[in-house]
Amino acid sequence: MDLGLEGKTAIVCASSRGLGKACASALAREGVRIVVNGTDKARTEQTAAEIGTFAAERPLAVAADITTPEGRHALLAACPKPDILVNNAGGPPMGNFRQWTRSDWIKALDLNLLGAVEMIRAILDGMVERRFGRIVNITSVAVKAPIPDLDLSNASRSALTGFVGGLARQVSRYNVTMNNILPGSFDTDRLASAASRQASANAVALEDQLRAMGEREVSGRFGSPEELGSLCAFLCASGSGYLTRQNILIDGGTYPGIV
Ligand code: NAD
Repeated sequence: MDLGLEGKTAIVCASSRGLGKACASALAREGVRIVVNGTDKARTEQTAAEIGTFAAERPLAVAADITTPEGRHALLAACPKPDILVNNAGGPPMGNFRQWTRSDWIKALDLNLLGAVEMIRAILDGMVERRFGRIVNITSVAVKAPIPDLDLSNASRSALTGFVGGLARQVSRYNVTMNNILPGSFDTDRLASAASRQASANAVALEDQLRAMGEREVSGRFGSPEELGSLCAFLCASGSGYLTRQNILIDGGTYPGIV
């Protein structure tokens, strides 16, 4: 299936590893020119080199923190008029809401709400003028089913969802779409480090902890980042212009609700 993306440009935030990297890779396979980003310079450059082995053009690597104005400026300087923007970042820490201070809340909002809002603000009007834009935000299953002790994430991702829900209707007629991908459990470094903490707490081996967690999924496994990358590329396709303002859960069927 040709997604009609040859020669388009994309900023993929937080893409040096994990889900962001999978989105960058899937778009690069479709001929999109990519800006890869992460907080770790060596890792970001390594990912750009890796993607460069199969992409038409080696991605630009921009090591920058998207929660800061300087970080966002560096990304936009590398690609001032992107056709595609994938908003992603690390997740905030787990913990009981009683422990979080105002400063913890602001950090979480910077990470999972305001960084994305500022990136959208910088590129949206250009997309409208050019009559093409695809914005994909990676959020979480927590938007549909808030997760205990992930209060910072539950709140900030739901706030982004509301923001996108309002804005997407204003730009639909200009062939600019905005969609959110809600990952369930994906096999990434983030999941591995959460599993490792739980393995220590339960005094079991990491492999046993991972097996038990996989078994709790109705699919019996974690998602592979490549599966999410394919969804992202589809949402960005030239032919996906009528598909907007959706919250698309990708979790192998584990979420029990039907809507
Ligand atoms: P990961 O830890 O494997 O990768 C995170 C990536 O984000 C890295 O490339 C890192 O450099 C980059 N990053 C982090 N903070 C950044 C910042 N401030 N500026 C720029 N880059 C930054 O994580 P992942 O598993 O790929 O998760 C990606 C997002 O999806 C996270 O927000 C996570 O909470 C969310 N999520 C993941 C899962 C899952 O199962 N993996 C499930 C639900 C939600």
